[in-house]
Amino acid sequence: MTRVAVVGGGALGVTAARDLAARGADTVLYERGELGSGASGRAAGIAYDAFAEDTDAAVAARAVERFRELGEEGAIEFVDHPYVWFARTGDDRRAEAVRESAERMRANGRDVETLDPDEFADRFPALAGVDVAAAALARDAGYLDPAAYVAAMGERAESAGADLRRRTPVRLAADGTAVETAAGTERFDAVLVAAGAHTKRLLAGVDVPIPMKPYRVQALVTDPVDGSERVPTCYDATEGRYARPREGGLLVGDGTDEREFDPDDYDESADLEFERASLAWLREISGDGAGPVTDDDLALRRSWVGLCTATPDRDPLLGEIRDGLYVATGWHGHGFMRAPALGERIAEQILGGDGVAPFDPNRFDGDETFEVVEGMTVDD
Ligand SMILES: Cc1cc2nc3c(=O)[nH]c(=O)nc-3n(C[C@H](O)[C@H](O)[C@H](O)COP(=O)(O)OP(=O)(O)OC[C@H]3O[C@@H](n4cnc5c(N)ncnc54)[C@H](O)[C@@H]3O)c2cc1C
Repeated sequence: MTRVAVVGGGALGVTAARDLAARGADTVLYERGELGSGASGRAAGIAYDAFAEDTDAAVAARAVERFRELGEEGAIEFVDHPYVWFARTGDDRRAEAVRESAERMRANGRDVETLDPDEFADRFPALAGVDVAAAALARDAGYLDPAAYVAAMGERAESAGADLRRRTPVRLAADGTAVETAAGTERFDAVLVAAGAHTKRLLAGVDVPIPMKPYRVQALVTDPVDGSERVPTCYDATEGRYARPREGGLLVGDGTDEREFDPDDYDESADLEFERASLAWLREISGDGAGPVTDDDLALRRSWVGLCTATPDRDPLLGEIRDGLYVATGWHGHGFMRAPALGERIAEQILGGDGVAPFDPNRFDGDETFEVVEGMTVDD
């Protein structure tokens, strides 16, 4: 029986552990804290298949399918909710990118519609404050509680026979196919490093460099507002912010710091300016009385910060990087929504299947210099 270690109990790690164990691998998952205590527990929980590249679109479609299956089984609640992205009048470059990306998504078989300003106003009165130049709508989309997904997949991993060791930090040893804990060293046939923002540091410990940089992003939730469900999941490409209903209020995300952060030493409190600008944006997009957010007293319930992971070409690093040593990172803010599919694909690859060729981590040397560019964008 193939013995596999998974390092990291985020959305990717628990999915891979479940799929490895379900396919007969002797699987041990090591999580230094609690499951979901990294980026996964801080995600906005938005999922859609609206990707312009064919590989991304197929991966995301499979992920949404798995979210829905889990929802139908009662393991999580997956709420079908449209995803709309738009550029504002005067932002011609992004307006063209919105139209062009929607066209490419349709060519990939995605259920995506382009909306002109009148159609947008008819469909989404809750966004009456937006002076739209171009918009697109993806129907194969929804949202869910990321922590609930991690917990559900963790349970399934254990039911399939995986050994989930919580509160167990590890280091890699030997050539990367051994794992060192406070209790000693264990050897495996394969080790998957899915340690989120810590992945580069862990791999550096066995002299395997990867071109990945953790960067800081922020989110907040407001107190409940009437009619929050009338707001579609939306991304304002001109302003670089997104929103979705959550907990009866609205979640707003972005506040991206486009530079590298130390995963063991970064500011975990949201910036006051992010909070102020996000609430002002919510009031603005809601328009004058038409949308749910018209109250000047719109209140912040809580805000938080997490780390995303950047690569030079904005594609993930997923696959075997040395004999028996596998990596899964570099999601550019889209790791949660793709985890059900990419966890499955990496589990299959470890057990002898094909990897995802465009995401092969060996396409880089590991010492590339590059700038952090946020993943949520319509720009190529
Ligand atoms: C504010 C915010 C909003 C986001 N919104 C979305 C969204 O709506 N949709 C979306 O798709 N993505 C979103 N993302 C991105 C998403 O959260 C990540 O891409 C995804 O969760 C990464 O999952 P992961 O399993 O790779 O990593 P993580 O969830 O970071 O898991 C890695 C785990 O490894 C553990 N670990 C680290 N070092 C060690 C060690 N030495 N030993 C053992 N364990 C270790 C950590 O404790 C952690 O639990 C968002 C991110 C943030 C911060």
